[in-house]
Amino acid sequence: MVDTNYDIIVAGAGLAGSTAAAVAARKGKHVLLLDRNVEDEVGKKTNWGWTCGDAVAASHLDFVSENTGISFSKPELDKKVDGVYAFSPDLESKYMFEGNGYVLDRPEFETKLLNIAKKSGAVYVPQFEVEGPLIDGNKVVGIFGRDREKNRVEYRAKVVIDALGIATVLRRRLPNNEFIQKDVDIDDVESTGRYIMEFDAPKDIDPIYYDPNNALIHLNQYMSPGGYCWVFPKSGDKVNIGLGVQRRSLQIRNQKLNKNDSLQTLIDEYIKWNPIIKNVRIFDKNRNGKGIWQVAVRRQLESLVYNGYMGAGDSMVMPNPLSAGGIGPALVAGILAGKNAAIAIEANDTSTEGLWRYNTEFNKEYGYKTAGLEVFRIYLQSLNNDIINYGIKTFLTADEANELTLGKIPKLSIASKFKIALKGATNINAFKELVYSVNKMKEMNAIYAEYPETPERFAPWASRVRAEMEEVKERFKPNPI
Ligand SMILES: Cc1cc2nc3c(=O)[nH]c(=O)nc-3n(C[C@H](O)[C@H](O)[C@H](O)COP(=O)(O)OP(=O)(O)OC[C@H]3O[C@@H](n4cnc5c(N)ncnc54)[C@H](O)[C@@H]3O)c2cc1C
Repeated sequence: MVDTNYDIIVAGAGLAGSTAAAVAARKGKHVLLLDRNVEDEVGKKTNWGWTCGDAVAASHLDFVSENTGISFSKPELDKKVDGVYAFSPDLESKYMFEGNGYVLDRPEFETKLLNIAKKSGAVYVPQFEVEGPLIDGNKVVGIFGRDREKNRVEYRAKVVIDALGIATVLRRRLPNNEFIQKDVDIDDVESTGRYIMEFDAPKDIDPIYYDPNNALIHLNQYMSPGGYCWVFPKSGDKVNIGLGVQRRSLQIRNQKLNKNDSLQTLIDEYIKWNPIIKNVRIFDKNRNGKGIWQVAVRRQLESLVYNGYMGAGDSMVMPNPLSAGGIGPALVAGILAGKNAAIAIEANDTSTEGLWRYNTEFNKEYGYKTAGLEVFRIYLQSLNNDIINYGIKTFLTADEANELTLGKIPKLSIASKFKIALKGATNINAFKELVYSVNKMKEMNAIYAEYPETPERFAPWASRVRAEMEEVKERFKPNPI
């Protein structure tokens, strides 16, 4: 007899899913972990592979270690990096984006998390295609899908954790409700892709284009409209190299320049542009050398829970709105979702209210800054290369830029304000818009500091957040060229 009743079903054995399953199983819960991949390919996002830049800040891995005792080493930590540097389009300015971290061997990392989940007691079923939620009244009570023989199967549980990634079929098929939005704005999604490549590294390396000790980001509205390009070092003479674009910005750029570039042609152009990354060969271990996928760059959904349902990772659009880093938040959310699902089951209340603590904990740990970062991302997408070059040189000190990328609010220095006042009208306007953005970030941070402690206070709070963000989108339209 197949066991079809569980405490918790975790759908998706990626980063968020395996972590949530491990944590919930360690708390003694009967956990089912479902994923469409064969076991050897656990966490593979699509037929394209584990498509990702694979860079993660050490602070996120520390959070995992501190909260679960899980530690990481080789082979899953493929390469240590001292920091992330972002370069202006003219390559004349650079600033530190984040502190030290790692570029992962993603298949190894996912396998490690899955093994921990299984060892913790989670029942893992690979090659299972989740098709939708089972709904009873206004509550999620399980999932349905197809097993490896394509038979329809239903599994039931007190809580379903949606960790299916950005294309989740669970969130999209929830009943209409005031807590979880089913769709996200396409302008908040980046189309993005990368290669993992071997190359002949020259002895003299120009750290503007490749740095074996740092992850590099190239801001450039011509090469990656509405996104950015990256070169992340891997072990040996290998790199993870790629870029992301906002579809609307790409359309505007193509139209204005009478071009017909696609994400793929832009990635290939970027590799040709790089004078250091030469004689490249695709490194196709695990058939993971080339891939294209999507990443959302907005604040996480305002609520991550609904009756019987929780979401973690890309299914809840958690990647950082500025950097698109989603590994860290997926791990943090996996831990908090697994823990709070277990707590709610013990308290015999898996309603929206019973699961609400997960919302407040995620907000305190990570979510409090993402709406502010989204404001800054929308502002940046409205600037062309000239203004970005000028702004990075004159508007912001390196410390101020760094604070902004962390979601903190800098006091824009008097020195730069004074310089701006001496310049022409266009720049005064661009500076005014920066000041507006920083003030709006501050406002969003203040709104998130008041995250509702209970579901009753959610509706007015969420409408205020959405209205503020609409105002920002109305003010700043994509304008890459
Ligand atoms: C090109 C690119 C570059 C990126 N670079 C970085 C980076 O450098 N650093 C960073 O931090 N983040 C980066 N990200 C984002 C990061 O990869 C994601 O945020 C992260 O993978 C989210 O993990 P997850 O567990 O939520 O979802 P996923 O990794 O998407 O895992 C979802 C799992 O669910 C499975 N699944 C999906 N649907 C079904 C279904 N219907 N039935 C059964 N199983 C299903 C999938 O096969 C997969 O195993 C990048 C993303 C892209 C696309």
